[in-house]
Amino acid sequence: MKKTQKWFYSLAAAALIFSGCSAKPQEKPADGAMTAGTYTATSSGYAGEMEVSVTVDEEKILTIEIGENNETPSVGGMAIEQLPGQIIDAQSIALDGVSGATYTSKAILDSVKDCLTQAGADLSLFEKSPTASTGEEITISSDVVIVGAGAAGLSAALRLQELGQEHILVIEKMAYTGGASATCGGGFSAAGSKYQKEAGIEDTPELMIEELLKKGHNINDAELTKLHAENSAAAIDWLIDDIGAQFNVPQPSEKGIARDFTAVGGGAGFMQTLHDVAQQRGIEIQLNTQATELIVDNGIVTGVKAKDNKGNQYTIDAKAVLLATGGYGSNQKLIEKADVGRVIYYGPVSSNGEGLEMAQKIGAKVTNLQYLGVKPNGLEVTAGVGKYTQPANNAMWKASAGILVNDAGKRLISETSSEQELVSVYKQQNDWAMYTVMDQAAYDIFYKTAIEKHLFSETEAKTWIEEKGTGTTVFVKGETLADAAQQAGIDAEALAETLEAYNQGYEAGKDEFGRTLSAEFKTDGPLYIVKQNLRFATSLGGLDINPECQVLTEQDEPIAGLYAAGEVVGNVQGDASSAYLSWAGTSGKLAAESIDAVLK
Ligand SMILES: Cc1cc2nc3c(=O)[nH]c(=O)nc-3n(C[C@H](O)[C@H](O)[C@H](O)COP(=O)(O)OP(=O)(O)OC[C@H]3O[C@@H](n4cnc5c(N)ncnc54)[C@H](O)[C@@H]3O)c2cc1C
Repeated sequence: MKKTQKWFYSLAAAALIFSGCSAKPQEKPADGAMTAGTYTATSSGYAGEMEVSVTVDEEKILTIEIGENNETPSVGGMAIEQLPGQIIDAQSIALDGVSGATYTSKAILDSVKDCLTQAGADLSLFEKSPTASTGEEITISSDVVIVGAGAAGLSAALRLQELGQEHILVIEKMAYTGGASATCGGGFSAAGSKYQKEAGIEDTPELMIEELLKKGHNINDAELTKLHAENSAAAIDWLIDDIGAQFNVPQPSEKGIARDFTAVGGGAGFMQTLHDVAQQRGIEIQLNTQATELIVDNGIVTGVKAKDNKGNQYTIDAKAVLLATGGYGSNQKLIEKADVGRVIYYGPVSSNGEGLEMAQKIGAKVTNLQYLGVKPNGLEVTAGVGKYTQPANNAMWKASAGILVNDAGKRLISETSSEQELVSVYKQQNDWAMYTVMDQAAYDIFYKTAIEKHLFSETEAKTWIEEKGTGTTVFVKGETLADAAQQAGIDAEALAETLEAYNQGYEAGKDEFGRTLSAEFKTDGPLYIVKQNLRFATSLGGLDINPECQVLTEQDEPIAGLYAAGEVVGNVQGDASSAYLSWAGTSGKLAAESIDAVLK
């Protein structure tokens, strides 16, 4: 079902808004001014078509109304909320849009332009860049300044307030809160939670430590891994009981100890709760405000310098600074330190390592930059950058006949193998790529899951199919096997043999790679082939901290006044893990407790 999001903005009184919206275009004035009235245009946003209505008088844009749409509330929703007001204030469509919400912003700007054209506007009057504000020098004092409003930052803010700290300021460079945390699946590992006990699951921090060290190949700092595991249960219980976050509790499983709590509504649902509760409890979150440097006095961090999107410059004095700035996946310079090979980035633009670089400039130690959380089944959209399709792949492998082959048309591994096994097979292929091959039934599951989970949009899929494999994204539909294979650039004859072998395995009830096969592959077409690259969203390197979450120098000395939590920390995950969100929430809470103990 479509979501309805309607927003009205006006320079004039409310009465004018409503009369303006119902007005029909009037006679066009002779002097070349706009014809007053309401105009409507449609553009493609991130998740399909969006209708935008613009009401104008002869000179000005009066209101902008966004109609029904499927944009993701946590990101596109911010463009819908903020951009119309910015356009009206500036009386300009020469705006950058809301950072991180590129598609939605472009759709709104394109539609407003279309409406102005319909109104007979002289577009040059609305395409002037708004004069840059010179801004002010603003000094703020706070007890604690938290840089970044993701899971680590907001958990810390909520915990600090609960402990009695009254002067907390969260600054967030984006137009919205949430960071990478709002885009993840929402899995939160915790060992020994009371909710596990109630569900009959026996678990201990020791078992979680064992799992984390195994996954991270013992590169993880043992002390921090222990800190994480031993405090994960308290963190999830606190998030559920005190903050009201909704999680599905793990259920006993034969596959191993069930300790993965999954947030209702995924990472977006979890972050919406943290945001809403922080607002209800009066925690000050200043959006569009980017920390640029740490202020140091005699070796002690005493605040941050920041700037906002209106040109204001801030000096924020604080007794403690918490860096909760997330990872550095979108920072090409830092990524070069890792052996990335052909791995695409599918995380948010906000993860660009600013906290790490600010701390490094004042002597903080940076560690493990060579490691990234690499996983299979990515989809390259622009060079080196893309999306993940894993949930769609998983749903499809389970219930249909889709398979994974290399460019020689050969199937090499069970599609349901572990991520690490799949990664090592991908790395042996040309371009570190594999190809997902689907018949119509398989594609229907893949596509439906992807759209439901906002992995890609209907518009994107349509465009890619129309490109027939000539663009960066290889996502093709062929009426025959040969047609699809030719568009995707894979060996058609070998693919036909592979599918025959697969179908023989299905009939015999025995797959050569050990997968449980649930359907026959219909080879008579249409066929869909999607090129899949290795992908990463999470960086594993970062700042070195001690168990009090204090940032350490190259000499392993704590930097007074400076703390870090979440993905900006680099010595906790080793070279692979799956408990990043859990670390962000747990370390945010722990950092708050350490800061509170020092301030009291
Ligand atoms: C697509 C995707 C899928 C994932 N899947 C999983 C999963 O299944 N399981 C799992 O455990 N983890 C997963 N992760 C990783 C996990 O989500 C993150 O590691 C974790 O949420 C990071 O939380 P954080 O609070 O440290 O950072 P973030 O949530 O990224 O928050 C950092 C915030 O700091 C802000 N910021 C940065 N620099 C500045 C600055 N200079 N000034 C002001 N603000 C700044 C950013 O804009 C951002 O809002 C996934 C990540 C992604 C992107």
